[in-house]
Amino acid sequence: MTSHPSGSPQTPGPVTSSFFLNNAVSDVAMTYFYAHLFAAEPEISAMFPAAMHVQRQRFYRVLCQITARLADCPDGTDAGPPEDPEFTSYLAELGRAHRKFGVRKEHYASFRAALRATADKFAPRRPADQWESAFDRAAEIMIGAAQEDAARAPAWWTAEVTGHEQRTPQVAVLTVQPQEPFAYLPGQHLSVQTPRWPRLWRRYSVANAPRADGTLTLHVRAVAGGLVSTTLVHHTAPGDIVLLGRAEGTMTAGTESGRPVLCLAGGTGLAPLKAIAEAITGSGERREIVLYHGARSESELYDLPALRRMELEFPWLEVIPVTSQERAAGTRHGTIPALAARAGVQDRDVYVSGPDAMIARTVQVLRTLGVPAARLRYDLPGEIG
Ligand SMILES: Cc1cc2nc3c(=O)[nH]c(=O)nc-3n(C[C@H](O)[C@H](O)[C@H](O)COP(=O)(O)OP(=O)(O)OC[C@H]3O[C@@H](n4cnc5c(N)ncnc54)[C@H](O)[C@@H]3O)c2cc1C
Repeated sequence: MTSHPSGSPQTPGPVTSSFFLNNAVSDVAMTYFYAHLFAAEPEISAMFPAAMHVQRQRFYRVLCQITARLADCPDGTDAGPPEDPEFTSYLAELGRAHRKFGVRKEHYASFRAALRATADKFAPRRPADQWESAFDRAAEIMIGAAQEDAARAPAWWTAEVTGHEQRTPQVAVLTVQPQEPFAYLPGQHLSVQTPRWPRLWRRYSVANAPRADGTLTLHVRAVAGGLVSTTLVHHTAPGDIVLLGRAEGTMTAGTESGRPVLCLAGGTGLAPLKAIAEAITGSGERREIVLYHGARSESELYDLPALRRMELEFPWLEVIPVTSQERAAGTRHGTIPALAARAGVQDRDVYVSGPDAMIARTVQVLRTLGVPAARLRYDLPGEIG
């Protein structure tokens, strides 16, 4: 096992000269880029939501990565940097993920032309070859991966909502039935689009190991002002249709390891860890699993009855509810990172899921305790999605 955030690789290679690496003009340049692209290709503009701020930032960060990692050497040689398998697989994943937006091979030429126009405007005295060769290499990887994926799976799945349980004022547990078989590994997440917000995709973890009937359960928290989460929690009912994008993420159940397991979940971060616990218990092995589920208050422990039923069915599973802002009978008081420091981590596979800050802090604690990276699994958000 390895520790591997699912997001973009974090350490760029040697920085090459490019306006894509000049933060000062990035937002203006990206606004110009999209205006140029949409004017030239109205079909592409239909793929994007009306609010483009996040998209501009994401695209800019991806361009920086591509320019820094794939550009030809600045000394004038055109040997290019050494192949980086991690970055290559990131770009392949990005190519596959873009299928759900409707991106096709021919669109990459339009992106390139709009980038060319943007570079001419914002960096007119700079040689173009570095970013252009980097872009071409990235596009080649993304197109190849998307084409291979298209031979195996649809770009998105239509799914019917078959269950909607309001567990707390802000959290709902939804069950959806994809109309075509949907493959995923326990611990992975998928993208969801609702009819209310066309073209907006958000990621949610699947909360169950694969079932014979193909249904998927999602745990969704409505965030204040959140478009998709609020729709799923407050304006969705059985019979509604949603779209699903392919499963992604590297924090998957290591059913072959044989070691005992520690799962540390905060909030709806429980979802992927419940899927992992189900997969491991369902594999027939009696591996000890200790699952902490943390929330601020007892009333926010939205899945405790279901977890207790799992505990009864599988006596080698122990569920430890945790509350951080109140003391309640039958729960431990504290935060997940603080309790992680006291949990038995010896020789366990450890899975961590929850808000970004909780994951980062918990991982830091576990690393300090000496848990090797190879036994630590978590997903952090990235540009794919
Ligand atoms: C790998 C991955 C897995 C995820 N799994 C789940 C899951 O299983 N269940 C789940 O409920 N969510 C999950 N999320 C979060 C989810 O993808 C959305 O980001 C979240 O539902 C908000 O989307 P929205 O459209 O409602 O909000 P947006 O319209 O995107 O955002 C509206 C406002 O809310 C803020 N905001 C966005 N997200 C959060 C947040 N999480 N907390 C506080 N403020 C926020 C934004 O900064 C913005 O100001 C996951 C995210 C990732 C990256």
